[in-house]
Order: sequence, then structure tokens, then C-alpha cells
Amino acid sequence: MSDDTADKSFAWADQWPEISDERVRAAFARVPRVCFIAPDLARFAGQDAPLPIGEGQTISQPFIVALMVQMLRLQPGARVLEIGTGSGYETAILCEMAHLAGQPAGASVYSIERYPSLAGGAAQALAAQGYAPHLRVGDGAAGWPEAAPFDAIIVSAAAAHVPRPLCDQLADGGRMVLPVGEHSDDQELWLVSKSHGRLHFARNGGVRFVPLISPVLDDAAQWAESL
Ligand code: SAH
Repeated sequence: MSDDTADKSFAWADQWPEISDERVRAAFARVPRVCFIAPDLARFAGQDAPLPIGEGQTISQPFIVALMVQMLRLQPGARVLEIGTGSGYETAILCEMAHLAGQPAGASVYSIERYPSLAGGAAQALAAQGYAPHLRVGDGAAGWPEAAPFDAIIVSAAAAHVPRPLCDQLADGGRMVLPVGEHSDDQELWLVSKSHGRLHFARNGGVRFVPLISPVLDDAAQWAESL
């Protein structure tokens, strides 16, 4: 890497006492964030902060990505669904975490983005870094039924309720992490886990994400109220 702003990303993990999983720290050390943002913002790549990526969207703060990924407890070969590919940066981290020796990095990673322009940019950046996840343009709140069930689901945009299709597509023993909240200043990170066919919900502190935009959520609202 010629640009020394990228190298600063290696220092993040030292400032994250909450991130105790060495595999998560190693994944962040391997993925150059600078390769997932526009060249004119390259000098900010090493900051632990969100940045604009176009279409009014942002690449998430690395610490929040690390926290969410750590909550998923990903093992090599895990089937992972990401909603909101955005820049593709978090997708690359997931490819590292789920990489099974002998398989292409990303073979078990699925990611959905609603903006074709962002999905196209992410596809290019991921391929350039040697990652080959399955990418789709569409409404992530509907999930990816043909590839389900998933051991882990990570949602990078906030919904007022947990989308039901995502709960249905979570494997038994699986974990889903997502921001939930109607307003940007009133969101919490939720961990949804499934065991013996039952869902468990745990809240993990305040966050701030762009909204998840989907017609599926109207149905989900009625379902969530009945839980
Ligand atoms: N993980 C990404 C986060 C991007 S911001 C990164 O770090 O770059 C969240 C993304 O979710 C945006 O790109 C937005 O377009 C996308 N999004 C919002 N609603 C969506 C939906 N219903 N389906 C798929 N993507 C959605």
C-alpha cells in the first residue's frame, strides 16, 4: 500500500478495548478501507468515522462495524447475509471472517444493496481486493430466500421493526445484528438469535444509521407487534 492514510487503519484495533475477538482485529488489519471510498476522500480513510459514499449514503464507522461483526461470532464457512452493501467495506470484512481454507474468499457471503450505482462500485472494489461474495441489487428486507438459511445476518440500515423475512431466513443457532428505531436519534443495536426455533431479542446500546427503505417493513410492523 503506497498511501500511508491506509496504513493508519491498522492502528484502530489498539483503540478498541471492546473488540476482544482476535479474528475480528485480524480482519480489520487485512482490509484496506481506502480502497472502498472515493479517491478525493482517501486522506480520511484512516479516521474511525463514517464518510459519504454517494446517493446520500455513508460507509459506516469502522468501530461500529467491528462491534456488529464481533456480535455475529462468525466461523470459517459460515453463511452470512448482509443488507446494505454500500461501499463493500463491511462485505470485505465478512469475506475475511467467513473464509474457509480452499474456498474463494466470499463463497458463503451474500450481500444486497438497493442502489445499483453503489452495488456496482462495491462489486469492482471487492473484486480488485480478491473477494468474490454473491451480490444482488434489490430490497434486502425481503432477504435472499434461495440462499437461506443463514448462520448470520447483518443489517447496515435502521428499520422501525425487525423485518420478518430476515427472522425466517435465520438458521437455528444463527445470530442477526441490526439497528432498530424509527428516528435517527433513537436507534438501538439489536441482537436477534434463534435457538430451537425460537427467537431471542437483546438490545446493545445506541447507534445511528441511515434508514432501511422497504415496502416489506409495513407487513413486518404488524408481525412485530404480535411478538
Ligand atoms: N456496510 C455499508 C453501509 C452502507 S450505508 C458500508 O459500510 O459501506 C447502508 C446501505 O444500506 C446504503 O448503501 C443503502 O442504500 C442501503 N439500503 C437501505 N435500504 C436498503 C434495502 N431495503 N435493501 C438493500 N439495501 C438498502
